[in-house]
Amino acid sequence: MEFSEIVDFLRNYDGKPIRLMEVCGSHTHAIATHGIRDILSDKIQLLSGPGCPVCVTPTAYIDKLIDICLEPNTTVTTFGDLLRVPGSKESLNEAKGRGGSVEMVYSPMDVLALAKNHPDREYVFAAVGFETTAPVYTLLLDNAIAKGLSNIKILTALKTMPGAISYLCDNGAQIDGFIAPGHVSAVTGADYFNDLADKYSIPFAVSGFGAKELVIGIYGLVQMVINNQPQVKNYYTSVVEQGQNDIIVSQLNKYFRPADVVWRGMGIIPGSGLLLRDEYASFDAGSDGLDEDNKRNKACRCGDILMGKATPKDCPLFGKVCTPMTPEGACMVSEEGACFNNYLINN
Ligand code: SF4
Ligand code: SF4
Repeated sequence: MEFSEIVDFLRNYDGKPIRLMEVCGSHTHAIATHGIRDILSDKIQLLSGPGCPVCVTPTAYIDKLIDICLEPNTTVTTFGDLLRVPGSKESLNEAKGRGGSVEMVYSPMDVLALAKNHPDREYVFAAVGFETTAPVYTLLLDNAIAKGLSNIKILTALKTMPGAISYLCDNGAQIDGFIAPGHVSAVTGADYFNDLADKYSIPFAVSGFGAKELVIGIYGLVQMVINNQPQVKNYYTSVVEQGQNDIIVSQLNKYFRPADVVWRGMGIIPGSGLLLRDEYASFDAGSDGLDEDNKRNKACRCGDILMGKATPKDCPLFGKVCTPMTPEGACMVSEEGACFNNYLINN
């Protein structure tokens, strides 16, 4: 089938309404910037699920980072996005403004030099991410151990995807098909989603991030929905294998254990987090039990948006009180967030 025929099909589709969800922040961003929604029939709705690691970080985690950065001789190191995420009272950036020690880094590895050059300070890395990012922290710990650096810790809000997808399916999200996260699949393999496809009779399409790749993945997913084929199909074979990357997965299992953790606006999802194993407790800055999730603004609908039950435009604060410059909820902070991307395409 020619690509133009695929586009025509998606544009003119007039069958039963279909609700598809991407659970990857980069897909959310790519779908917005490539204008993918513009070529889809009104009968095909694309929803943005809990795929941005920053958006699903609960307020207790931000509050804990703030407490840590205000401790003497302690610095929180983080990627830029996390700085502006609202905690229950303030953001890390605001805490920095009143004397907190926070340093933005581009890679967790940057912490090694900081820790070596300042042995009297403790460096706590804000370890946020999914199966894709978690391996980088195992590398940091490998290096910290090899170099004998005991002044490095991590505060983990690391999460894994299957629990969140199960949670959506169990809690009435009414999704007909999932665009599986591309980078996560590169670590876990496409087969990672087989059990979910079987359990919920829902198809998954593993897709890349280019416009053409996304359109082909969406077309494949729509075909599986129409033909009632709850399978996992891999449309990103240049990067994603069927099976997992054994080396990376064994690194993850060496340092982390599954744990019940809170996703912002969604609540506790069993087995969906990664906490350090007891053998590595000396590297943990207190990641367990960060369960509080208090919205700063009660009208924020991040939770409903992440669950596919609302779109950003259903939020009364969208584009008025809440903008990328003045975010009220996490979904407006990250460039992978649903609200941020909706704001981007409308402005
Ligand atoms: S890490 Fe990759 S797969 Fe995961 S949400 Fe981000 S972009 Fe998507
Ligand atoms: S627009 Fe802002 S306040 Fe509303 S749901 Fe999105 S992040 Fe929350």
